[in-house]
Order: sequence, then C-alpha cells, then structure tokens
Amino acid sequence: MSEVIKTDVLIIGAGPCGLFAVFELGLLDMKMHLIDILDKIGGQCAELYPEKPIYDIPGIPYVTGQGLCDALMAQIKPFGPTFHLQEMVQTIEKIGDPLFRVTTDRGQVFEVKVIVIAAGGGSFQPKRPPIPGIEAYEGTSVFYAVRQMEAFRDKRILIVGGGDSALDWTLNLAPLAVTSRSCTGAAISAPRPTASTR
Ligand SMILES: Cc1cc2nc3c(=O)[nH]c(=O)nc-3n(C[C@H](O)[C@H](O)[C@H](O)COP(=O)(O)OP(=O)(O)OC[C@H]3O[C@@H](n4cnc5c(N)ncnc54)[C@H](O)[C@@H]3O)c2cc1C
Repeated sequence: MSEVIKTDVLIIGAGPCGLFAVFELGLLDMKMHLIDILDKIGGQCAELYPEKPIYDIPGIPYVTGQGLCDALMAQIKPFGPTFHLQEMVQTIEKIGDPLFRVTTDRGQVFEVKVIVIAAGGGSFQPKRPPIPGIEAYEGTSVFYAVRQMEAFRDKRILIVGGGDSALDWTLNLAPLAVTSRSCTGAAISAPRPTASTR
C-alpha cells in the first residue's frame, strides 16, 4: 500500500465544479488533491460532450465542452493541484476534528482536513435500453456519448431520450447528419429554459 497522503483539501470529482473549487480554495492558500474515476479531467463536459457548444457560461458567449475544461485548467494552473485519475473514492471516515481518512479502490489513503464532494451525477454508467443483444452494436451503431461529432456525418441518426440532452444533440447533429430524429415515446420536454439554445 502507498504512503498516506496528507493535505488540506481532497476534492472528489474533477468536473467543472471540482476544478473551480481548486481556484476558490487556492485563493485561500489551501493545498489540494483531486480524485476522479475517469481517465481524464473535466467530468461530463470532457467525457460526454467535448465538442458540443455551450452557450450559458457567464461572460463566455460560446465554448465547447473541452474548451471549458481547458479554460478551467488554465485558470487553476497557479495553484498546482495534484490529480489522481482512474481512482474511485470508496470510504470516508472521521478521525479527528477536523480530520478525515479517505480510501480509494486502489488502496490509497488520504488524511485531510476538508473534503469537497463535487461528484456531479456520480460515476458514469450508460443506462442501457432493455434490448436483447444490444451490446453487439455498442461502439459501431449504438452510442451512449458523442465524443466526435464528425463520426456522425452523413448518417441517419435516432436519438433516444426525452430530456434536454436529447434536444441538445438533435440540434447539434442536425447540420451533419442526413436525418436526425428524437424518439421519446412522448413529446420532447425541455426541463431548463436555456435548453433550446444550448
Ligand atoms: C450531453 C450533455 C450536455 C450538457 N450541456 C450543458 C450545457 O450546454 N450547459 C450547461 O450548463 N450544462 C450542460 N450539461 C450539464 C453539465 O455538464 C453538468 O451540470 C456539469 O458537468 C456538472 O459539473 P460537476 O463538476 O458538478 O459534475 P460532473 O461533470 O458530473 O463531474 C463529476 C465528476 O466526479 C467523478 N466522480 C463521481 N463519483 C466519484 C467517486 N466516488 N470517486 C471518484 N470520482 C467520482 C465523476 O467521474 C465525474 O468526473 C450537459 C450535460 C450533458 C450530459
């Protein structure tokens, strides 16, 4: 087992919220480590929609998912956080006041004064529709994320889902695809008022 890492703050999740927490805590001169189960920094923006445009960041009229992660990384560079990727937090235990022991699935132990939980929607697992044998098509004609929009050029696309992500991808893939349709089983609902412009 590796040595216990002692630091001021442990941030669980290296998505946009975890990254901006580095900036805010860095201003208070705190030292930070971040843990993320993904193999990359940026949470949903980097993993699920690196090329999709985002229009609702204050002061930034347009940025892609990956562009936002890159900007956040540039913003926190002066604070030199340490990242632990492909590692999942498994247990948190209070051992002092204030002191916490955190362990990961790789057996790494941290002792920290503050824990920031920026875990977003949790670790990513696709919600597979109950279609027998669907695994055989995954990665060739069934996808759970759009990592490269160009891969869908001139394709006929069916987007399954009724939330804002379905509407987002229908709008963003429409210029590339031959046809792009949303199949929801009901009318598309847009839970957030900004959804039509995102
Ligand atoms: C397709 C799509 C389009 C979107 N478009 C927009 C948009 O245009 N504008 C907008 O404002 N929002 C948009 N969103 C929502 C936006 O991406 C999220 O609100 C944002 O990513 C939340 O940031 P976060 O840092 O809180 O969480 P996340 O981005 O979810 O990051 C949390 C991180 O925590 C990690 N994690 C969780 N549990 C553990 C654990 N136990 N151990 C280690 N790591 C862990 C996860 O791996 C993840 O990387 C969109 C979402 C999707 C899916």
